[in-house]
Amino acid sequence: MSDDVLSVIPTDPYWSPGPGAAERAAAAAAVLAGAEAEAVRHDGVAFIDCGADLERIGCPRCAAPIDFDRWSDLVGARFEEGFATLDAAVPCCGAEVSLNDLDYHWPCGFACFEIEILNPERPWFTVGEAVRIGALLGHPVRQVRAHI
Ligand SMILES: [Zn+2]
Repeated sequence: MSDDVLSVIPTDPYWSPGPGAAERAAAAAAVLAGAEAEAVRHDGVAFIDCGADLERIGCPRCAAPIDFDRWSDLVGARFEEGFATLDAAVPCCGAEVSLNDLDYHWPCGFACFEIEILNPERPWFTVGEAVRIGALLGHPVRQVRAHI
């Protein structure tokens, strides 16, 4: 049996909410998703991935596909530095971009905080719902869904 995990993360990988805001946003997400939602804090920045659903990664500047191995090297190098920065020169066009801003299909991101929803009743929050959760949290959010 497999599970679906929907994660709601701040758009800024280095941002995290205060305890009250985290709990309020998680409670709202639980009601909207019809499932349990947990506010999770990571030790520093973590890669929030979409699991087996990661089909391709594109460059936000030149739109070229980025090879998984090259991408993995870039992430590994930044990880060694404790993700002090996520900026990296992409192999396609050499542009300096944040690894958080690459064109991940399906979406992935970096975050030190997430609201994790196990087996939500529907795949994604609507834009309006995500805005509401972000307002409770105190920062705009994006969504990552993983099939595990
Ligand atoms: Zn490029």
